[in-house]
Amino acid sequence: MKVLVVGGAGYIGSHCVRQLQAAGHTPVVLDNLVKGHKDSIPSGVTFYETDLADSAQVIDILKKEEIDIVMHFAAFIEVGESMQDPLKHYDNNVAKTVSLLKSMREAGVNKFVFSSSCTVLGEEAAPPFTEAMPLRPISAYGQTKADVEVILDYCCKAYGMSAAIFRYFNASGAAVGGMIGEDHSPETHLIPIAIQVALGQREKMKVFGNDYPTPDGTCLRDYVHVDDLSRAHIAAFPKLEEEGTYLRYNLGTGTPASVLEIIKTVEEVSGCPVPYDLAPKRDGDVPSAYADSIKAKTELGWDPQYPTIKSIIETAWKWHQSHPNGYDDK
Ligand code: UDP
Repeated sequence: MKVLVVGGAGYIGSHCVRQLQAAGHTPVVLDNLVKGHKDSIPSGVTFYETDLADSAQVIDILKKEEIDIVMHFAAFIEVGESMQDPLKHYDNNVAKTVSLLKSMREAGVNKFVFSSSCTVLGEEAAPPFTEAMPLRPISAYGQTKADVEVILDYCCKAYGMSAAIFRYFNASGAAVGGMIGEDHSPETHLIPIAIQVALGQREKMKVFGNDYPTPDGTCLRDYVHVDDLSRAHIAAFPKLEEEGTYLRYNLGTGTPASVLEIIKTVEEVSGCPVPYDLAPKRDGDVPSAYADSIKAKTELGWDPQYPTIKSIIETAWKWHQSHPNGYDDK
């Protein structure tokens, strides 16, 4: 398959590009490089430095490259920012996605894979989260993902488009080999921050809240390896052959880890101390979020290769150790 990877220079997109190559597909990358890194794109892969809302260009690329499937990873992901500047997130994550879908219709491309998030489910009482749970986001970011999920449902019904939506839990880790990895600016995620402390780039870190109703009082999350996520997306391709298909899958290992367990595992893997201070709870954090991924496992044959936080953190450590300043180290 010829696959246009929108946001293919970002963290998850760049891992997906490599997994597409490994599976024998031909990725073409479209990225405006506002958040993405050009150095994450493998040499030999066709790259367009284009904004996904530039319809004339996007239509031209879709036709010229004879694209079969569009995978869409380009989004703003910072929950806090989405609450301070919701229109920025609606514009990028919703309006530009609508523009991309219109360009696809114009070019006659009707298969779509969308990067969603477990934040569409919001504050449910009892994890594990299943696909059947209602959309109840509690942030503007989560709402933008939920909006696109609903837009896609209508598009599949109205236009015979087919779509597979993947809701990630906590995407983490890096490709084996340490050539690509996580490089966000600013960095807000737990594992890279703990690794930055282990590397001595930060003196200390903060643990946001320790009186949650969890075994050690810190939040439980479901950390899932970025290559495992990518493989699930590709496994859905055959299902998109049928017009009107609309699929949603939760992707996580189903085994949650607490903030303190992550810090301890980073210490163990790195052999370096990770000092922390207790800090107030972070707005919008739910006590516990982990996936029921039975649907992806049974319908797609998805079989995560990194089932433990240690195996995930080992790959992240390798990337950060060899690229302490991310892609700027190249
Ligand atoms: N967290 C923390 N200190 C940090 C960053 C994150 O205690 O410096 C906590 C955060 O409150 C949450 C968990 O780590 O409970 C995972 O946060 P992250 O931002 O990595 O992912 P999220 O679950 O918010 O998508």
